[in-house]
Amino acid sequence: MIQPIIADSVIERLRSLINGAKNVVITCHLSPDGDAIGSSLALCHVLHRLGKNATIVTPDMVPRSLSFLPNMRDVVVYTKTEVKARNIVEHAQLIFCLDFNDMHRIDKLGELIMLNPAPRILIDHHLAPSDTFDLMISFPELSSTCELLYRIFLQLRMLNLIDHCAAQCLLTGMMTDTGNFTYGSDNPDIYEIQASLMRRHIDRQGLYNMAMNTFSADSLRLQGFAISEKMQLFPEKHAALITLTRDELKRFNYRKGDTEGLVNKPLAIPGIDWVVFFRQDPEYVKVSCRSRGDFSVNDICNKYFNGGGHLNAAGGEFYGTIEQAEEVFMTLLNEVVFPDKE
Ligand code: 5GP
Ligand code: MN
Repeated sequence: MIQPIIADSVIERLRSLINGAKNVVITCHLSPDGDAIGSSLALCHVLHRLGKNATIVTPDMVPRSLSFLPNMRDVVVYTKTEVKARNIVEHAQLIFCLDFNDMHRIDKLGELIMLNPAPRILIDHHLAPSDTFDLMISFPELSSTCELLYRIFLQLRMLNLIDHCAAQCLLTGMMTDTGNFTYGSDNPDIYEIQASLMRRHIDRQGLYNMAMNTFSADSLRLQGFAISEKMQLFPEKHAALITLTRDELKRFNYRKGDTEGLVNKPLAIPGIDWVVFFRQDPEYVKVSCRSRGDFSVNDICNKYFNGGGHLNAAGGEFYGTIEQAEEVFMTLLNEVVFPDKE
């Protein structure tokens, strides 16, 4: 039996905010991943069934790899159709912020949302949420926002509104944020939730293949190149670094999403317990970090890379050249004290 974790007062406030609004906007973080877009689609679906005029507005494009999810065509992308997005946000009477902890994580869309006095509800599992929300449902100890959303529906007594489509979306987010139930997956509740979603006739293998195991030939070659030629190991510091420059990305016809999962790979090497990946994007160097155990990459991204995330998975942005980013990495390599294991 899954025990309730959200205070009844919070659930009742959520219920009354939903009851009081007709036009609802749902948004999620930049470069939406399976959890961000999966939770948004599932919530949108349920709100439609409640008769709400709900729309998902994302700050930027959703990767092609997630285009199989139901109702993806209805998602409004701010960077693609700015006027339409503005109009929808301006008319919102309630705004859901899913899978991020601070308005900076949604870029210009955040500034637009802050102009609207409509209540903002946070549903998230990242560390250190900011206090710019009217109702905060933040549980960093949970595996995914999709897990949290399921628990919210459970406590709202709305599980009957989760149909096949919404279940597909929720399971996708739970899968992608845990590496298909590998890390952050020790709470038995998540398997009960999975079982309940599976009862909505999910093709689990198909979902896994579409959400997590579909890569273009270019992408596979790029990842192979990155590991073969661009991975540096620092065994005495238990660390690995991967860098990819613009030219290298171009050589493999890089498209958004092509490096998904790459940062996890060096953790397979015994003795490597934390990994930093720098990708030279047009505007900045995108930083992605992973670790295992108590070593906090959230702290590293917070301190050095204007970012954050979770204890073992975090990201950020570095404004400078990739060489400068590497210098910062070398500095932090000297600074970190890794708890030595027997
Ligand atoms: P990824 O490395 O897969 O892009 O992100 C890992 C985790 O860190 C995700 O939970 C993501 O939301 C968070 N994250 C990624 N980039 C940033 C960033 O620039 N700023 C913050 N605050 N979090 C990030
Ligand atoms: Mn998430």
